[in-house]
Amino acid sequence: MPSDTEVAVIGGGAAGIAAARRLTDAGVPCLLIEARNRLGGRAYTVHHDGHGVDLGCGWLHSAETNPFVHIAEQQGRRIDRSTPAWGRPALERNFPLADQRDYQQAMAAYFERLSELAERDVDVSCAAAFEPGNRWNGLIGAVVSYISGGDAVRVSARDFENYAGTDVNWRVAEGYGTVIAAVADGLDVARETVVERIDHSGTRLRIESNRGTIEAARAIVTLPTDILAARDDLFLPALPQKAEAAAGLPLGLADKLYLRLENAEEFGRDTRVFGRLDSKDTASYTIRPQSRPHIEGYFGNGCAAELEMGGVQAFVDFAVSQLADVFGSDFKKRLSLLDMHLWAADPFARGSYSFALPGRVDCRQTLAAPVDGRLFFAGEACSKLDFSTAHGAYLTGLAAAEQVLAARKRG
Ligand SMILES: Cc1cc2nc3c(=O)[nH]c(=O)nc-3n(C[C@H](O)[C@H](O)[C@H](O)COP(=O)(O)OP(=O)(O)OC[C@H]3O[C@@H](n4cnc5c(N)ncnc54)[C@H](O)[C@@H]3O)c2cc1C
Repeated sequence: MPSDTEVAVIGGGAAGIAAARRLTDAGVPCLLIEARNRLGGRAYTVHHDGHGVDLGCGWLHSAETNPFVHIAEQQGRRIDRSTPAWGRPALERNFPLADQRDYQQAMAAYFERLSELAERDVDVSCAAAFEPGNRWNGLIGAVVSYISGGDAVRVSARDFENYAGTDVNWRVAEGYGTVIAAVADGLDVARETVVERIDHSGTRLRIESNRGTIEAARAIVTLPTDILAARDDLFLPALPQKAEAAAGLPLGLADKLYLRLENAEEFGRDTRVFGRLDSKDTASYTIRPQSRPHIEGYFGNGCAAELEMGGVQAFVDFAVSQLADVFGSDFKKRLSLLDMHLWAADPFARGSYSFALPGRVDCRQTLAAPVDGRLFFAGEACSKLDFSTAHGAYLTGLAAAEQVLAARKRG
């Protein structure tokens, strides 16, 4: 591992890869420092039966403007432009169409109230937009937790509204994680290098890690917020404004469980089923995602956090039981575990994507602000409008690289 570089990029997820790619292409010596033995971070594709299966990000959100669509096409990948399961009617088996219409109306009214609340002077939580006693509050709460990763009561209405998604969502057959990791091809990377301290007390930065110290003129820090918030000794001297900003942007939790499904052809592709309709503690299941013989279960916030305590088997048991309630107990025999990753238990993530606590929207800007012209910050949580997404992370990485290039010019 080199002991010296000009720019240390800390964290090899979408943001760090974007920053290191931009700097390397501009001829600036830089080293991408990553704790794991793989790149991509919360973008993580595994391969089963010839399919790329995304255990982290899977959707190219805001696809018409998402830079990863062009990147994936240049890499020769196959973009799947079909409508997501959540854009199609759910299976009627446990959710009659009349109820679905009722639910859709309740959901639209909830989002309208949320928009109005977000305009007010004082920021409130997304829970303030629930209509007391509405029969769909449980399911709406579940969907809010899938989107934000947080329980509605903790999520800032203003931040939620700031999100600039365009409702065009595509996938890439080889996996989103595959695309993102491939952007790093040819970069200088130090893997399995856990940064323990960033000492900015001297004329050069000293990045201390489990594999020794790397000196650098500048650094771009892209660590997830829950890591920044928990490590108030990460910077020397300490940067309490960064730790506080990160604490205002906690990582929500979303976990994806993949099951194999025998005789899957019985179902249409991308068929959506909710495990329950009356509780936020339910997974949303996509049967035959991209026509594959799988079921993808999406678990939000509280439900995922509780199940993580029991490990992967707890998710399998929960999902199999919910699906058996919908399709009958014989259905269990057709299901087996394909794969999953526990994102809260992962020490290099500690969660899935950031939301702002009520009143803490400005933390995104505070977190993103450079320090002394030599410490720069990127990562999904630094994005004001595209936070929580891989392309948002990528764009913040590019922005931080541009800041470094401008700082270099100034000398
Ligand atoms: C289940 C799930 C589903 C998702 N679905 C979508 C989706 O469909 N679409 C979408 O756009 N986004 C989605 N996301 C969010 C998206 O994956 C993230 O917003 C994005 O990948 C974050 O990129 P990042 O570079 O900011 O952070 P990360 O990817 O977390 O990168 C940070 C890197 O820092 C490394 N690191 C941590 N600690 C240290 C240390 N001490 N020293 C060195 N390195 C360290 C980590 O290993 C990691 O590689 C999903 C995420 C999850 C978990």
